[in-house]
Formats: sequence, C-alpha cells, structure tokens
Amino acid sequence: SLEGKDIHLSFGKNKVLRGVNIDVAAGTTTTVIGPSGSGKSTLLRALNRLHEPEQGDILLDGKSVLKDNPDELRQRIGMVFQQFNLFPHRTVLDNVALGPWKLQGLPKEKAHALALEQLESVGLAQKAQSRPGNLSGGQQQRVAIARALAMKPEVMFFDEATSALDPELVKGVLALMADLAKGGMTMVVVTHEMGFARSVSDRVLFMDHGSVVETGPPAALFDDPESDRLKRFLSEVL
Ligand code: ATP
Ligand code: MG
Repeated sequence: SLEGKDIHLSFGKNKVLRGVNIDVAAGTTTTVIGPSGSGKSTLLRALNRLHEPEQGDILLDGKSVLKDNPDELRQRIGMVFQQFNLFPHRTVLDNVALGPWKLQGLPKEKAHALALEQLESVGLAQKAQSRPGNLSGGQQQRVAIARALAMKPEVMFFDEATSALDPELVKGVLALMADLAKGGMTMVVVTHEMGFARSVSDRVLFMDHGSVVETGPPAALFDDPESDRLKRFLSEVL
C-alpha cells in the first residue's frame, strides 16, 4: 500500500499541495483527476520525493519512507511520464536493461534477459534491437512502461502517459495499463481519460487548488458528484 498523509508543498509563495491525503491499498488503482494546475503532477512528485514535502508523511506498506534514501525510494516506485525520455542512441533492449543493470547491480546478461521478458510482456520483444526513434509513440510509451516494470517496483505512477500520443495510439497504452491494474499492480494514475478512470480505477481522487475536493469509487464520483467544483469539472471534460 501507498499512503500520503497531510502532504504540503509550496513553490515559493505558491502553495501547490495543501494537506493532501491519499491511500492506495495494495493491488488497487487510484486515478487522480482535476483541472490543469491543480497539483496532480506535484502530488506524484511529492510522493516519490522528486520534490520533498514540507509537511506530512509518506508510507509504503505502512512504513514511513520520509527518512529513506530518495534514490532507493524511487526504485520502489516506477514512474511513467507523458514524455517517454528514452535514450535515443541505445537499443530498446538497453533502455529497459539499464536500470536493473546500472542501478540495481544485476549482471548485464541477466538484466538483458529480464528486459527481454518485460518487452515480451508489453508485446514489443520483436523491437528489442531497434532504436526508440524508429518506434511509434505508442510503442515508445510501452517501452517506457517496460523500463519501469523491469525495476520490479511495488507501485507504479503514471502522469498523463497517453497525453502526447496520437489518438489511434492511446488505446493500446491504456489497454496495457488496464492489464497491469488487473494483474494486481498498485497504481496511481493521473489522467484526462475519464473512460479509464471510470472503468479501471478502484478509487478516483478529484483535486482542485492543491486539495482533494472529493474522493470515492468511480461510480460515486462520476454519477453522483457532490461538490459544485466536481460537477463543473465533469461538465467540461465529459
Ligand atoms: P496539468 O493538468 O496541467 O498537468 P497539474 O495538476 O499536474 O496540471 P502541477 O504541474 O502539479 O499541476 O502544478 C501545480 C502548480 O505548481 C502550478 O501552479 C505550477 O505552476 C506549479 N509548479 C509545478 N511545478 C513547479 C516547479 N518545478 N516550480 C515552480 N512551480 C511549479
Ligand atoms: Mg500535470
């Protein structure tokens, strides 16, 4: 499980997270929705301590990780961004193998075997020797997912993983994310894909101005929103 308790974070005078609580049970998926600038990306970055929260606690499996080494924490949380950030001059296989090899100290051959397995799991073993630039955006994002999974993370974060993709490529990546969720991965997904939020997530968290305005199972949030802010947001995005 992953828990963020009363997370506060500011950039200068700009209070971006104002006491956010999030509780993701092991094997479940929480989707974070909300308007642009509401703090969704910052929340993910606070939870994996790319930005250190000023106040609050972060627990993995019930144990606070605020005093842990942030580099080690980030190996326990896989992250997939809108931009795939693959190394262009390395093969797809190398891109996936580098983390287990260089960061986790796996022997090179073992890291490559593991990478090939992960590429198979995202349906791209046949592209192992290609350069990322020769793959479609959707394929590159699946490689980025395989790269994160190769580190055997306990939790996966997705930050608008499909926002940069051409519409016809979005489906494949969402299907892969849905498969991961069904397979029991613990996930936090920031997305504008309301269909995904409704059909895949166990909980939805609606943020506005750095606070969680409403949270609950998707049916409750989408079919019976309580707050005017969520009603307004849904009327704009649905
Ligand atoms: P979007 O849907 O557009 O991605 P978001 O909900 O992810 O929006 P954040 O990126 O978390 O929003 O940004 C929340 C606020 O924090 C914004 O006001 C933004 O300008 C500010 N912010 C984010 N990152 C930084 C940073 N590195 N330095 C300063 N301010 C930042
Ligand atoms: Mg964002």
